[in-house]
Amino acid sequence: MAEHFRQRLPNSMSVTLAMSAEPQFTGPQFTETQLMGPAADSTSELSSPPALDPLTSVPANAPAHAPSSLSEAAPALERQRLPPLVDSHCHIVFRNFDDDLDAVCDRWRQAGVRALVHACVEPAEIPAIRALADRFPELRYAVGVHPLDTGHWLSDTPSVLREAALADDRVVAIGELGLDLFRQSNLEEQLQMLRPQLDLASELDLPVIIHCRDAAEPMLVELRSRAAAGRCPTGVMHCWGGTPAEMEAFLELGMFISFSGTVTFPKAEDTHQCARQVPADRYLVETDCPFLAPVPRRGKRNEPAYVLSVAERVAALRGESLEQVARTSTANAQRLFRLPGDLV
Ligand SMILES: [Zn+2]
Ligand SMILES: [Zn+2]
Repeated sequence: MAEHFRQRLPNSMSVTLAMSAEPQFTGPQFTETQLMGPAADSTSELSSPPALDPLTSVPANAPAHAPSSLSEAAPALERQRLPPLVDSHCHIVFRNFDDDLDAVCDRWRQAGVRALVHACVEPAEIPAIRALADRFPELRYAVGVHPLDTGHWLSDTPSVLREAALADDRVVAIGELGLDLFRQSNLEEQLQMLRPQLDLASELDLPVIIHCRDAAEPMLVELRSRAAAGRCPTGVMHCWGGTPAEMEAFLELGMFISFSGTVTFPKAEDTHQCARQVPADRYLVETDCPFLAPVPRRGKRNEPAYVLSVAERVAALRGESLEQVARTSTANAQRLFRLPGDLV
């Protein structure tokens, strides 16, 4: 089993994975790191989590030495008060969750994560993701092909994705799809995968989960032409790392903006400004785990429970309470993905 699994974290944040059972897949040959470039991703800039006042959520009889943030805290009484959160983008199908997924699940439930949306990087993942949805009732998922997974795009891929989406009402989105010109320069090849997936989302009336890295302009050109023709799906710009001006352009197209662990990185000033500026009804929070663990766990394997750290940082940037950000981001995720009311 070990020979099927190579993981290099955090230096390259590149994960190469394969399933032990058929169908095998080699997993994402991509990285989701350092949206701000290598300097911003340096682990040397680890800093304290955002200054928050956990005392508002700590019971009166709690120990005097309160943790510096709720995401570091675990007392049972405190957990009960945590607001419901949605991790709107995760990849727990990856092999580095094989050994302790039940414990990972315990931690996301203790952190108040009531629903997870699982992203998909290529069709061979779908049976395993579906099995995870069987195992964890709070999991919903997307089907799609990542822009750096061009090697997995076949002529019948659109019909495979269509059948998978129609076969299970727990499929709540198409994705992750998009453009990534940070790692690759094959824009035309990526567009050939992007366009049929956007068509499929429109056809099935599903939102899209968009991965867009160093590619805001060509993505905007594509979405604007669709909007002009009245066939631009709704969706979310996941793991947002663009500028405030780019964010405004995607908001105009009806997109949601999802903040990940990158919003906790001290040098991510554009992302900080976006978190302050985004309208309350248009943002989500996510982990994109196992990538991009937020401060204070930066450089380690990320997991859904840590979405709490993302929400805390967004709250601090917006000058709002954690409860307010949790309520808002959860309502937004519920609306975008049409999550069942009894889930969150
Ligand atoms: Zn992505
Ligand atoms: Zn992802």
